[in-house]
Amino acid sequence: MKVFISFDMEGVAGIVDWSQCIPPGQPYEEGRRLLLGEVNAAIDGALAAGATEIVCNDSHGAMNNLDPELLHGQATYVSGRHKPLYMMQGLEAGADVVFMVGYHGSISGESSILSHTYNPSVVSHVALNGVRVGESGINALVALACGVPIGLITGDRHTAGEADPFLADAERVVVKESFTRFGAVNQHPEVARAKIAEAARRAVERAVQPGGSLRRPAIPLPATLEVHMLTADMAEVASWVRGAERTGVRTVTIGGDDPMAMFRSFVAVTYITRQSEGRLGLNVRSGSRPRHRSPGPGPSARSRRPGRAGGSSRRRPVRRPSPARAPAT
Ligand SMILES: [Zn+2]
Repeated sequence: MKVFISFDMEGVAGIVDWSQCIPPGQPYEEGRRLLLGEVNAAIDGALAAGATEIVCNDSHGAMNNLDPELLHGQATYVSGRHKPLYMMQGLEAGADVVFMVGYHGSISGESSILSHTYNPSVVSHVALNGVRVGESGINALVALACGVPIGLITGDRHTAGEADPFLADAERVVVKESFTRFGAVNQHPEVARAKIAEAARRAVERAVQPGGSLRRPAIPLPATLEVHMLTADMAEVASWVRGAERTGVRTVTIGGDDPMAMFRSFVAVTYITRQSEGRLGLNVRSGSRPRHRSPGPGPSARSRRPGRAGGSSRRRPVRRPSPARAPAT
């Protein structure tokens, strides 16, 4: 009995600020401890109901937020970057049920703690078959392609609500009530973990029932995924991806009857649009201005390096990414 867990971080009880989600620092250490507690609670609940194999996919930021030794149930840990299936990497046909732990609301939905949809610097709204969708519904395309039901989603109340149209069967655990994107009433972590463990147990029991009371995600095919972005440049760059068609000034549409192909096109859109993200013309991800500056008189690039003799006396300040900058996913 195999369980696949895709876990994010912003939807964990006690987390309300980017500093708890982005290393380094004491708040991040606290955040990852809270995250580990909820992931392990989901594992414990699954094991109690008879799960024999657990695969955990770290879907947040650099995607290596946990100490692998501390995962319960001898779970496999899918970690690190550049995963072709991103938040769903490691899910295969043959798994019995999917859990989504620590998920958060969409960027265009109600105020939900640290809400965003994949990349907050690019994506302003996504609709699946005409309905606003968060990461849960987008990721459900992979579950649909693999023929695996989604049995559990955890996060704040808006996260649970956004899952309704697509994940109607999933157990829901609301661990906090957001009042803004940066404020919430959080359940105590022990309370949240107990509820998650109980819901995970129920989800596994339902998944193994003969006939099964858990159905695949409710996404009629062929489907359309409309991805709205902050600028026209982003949509232009996104339209270079196979399967993504420019359908508006700031919109591309990904359509078809193959949910895996749609998801892979969406992942490619999230990758390629990082080249055009932001609205200041600064390459903020690398912390520098664009590299292709027009050549001109003056000291060579080598001699401009800080600390080198003969360098320009007017050194440009080095821009560093803010530690509070929102990560993708
Ligand atoms: Zn995240």
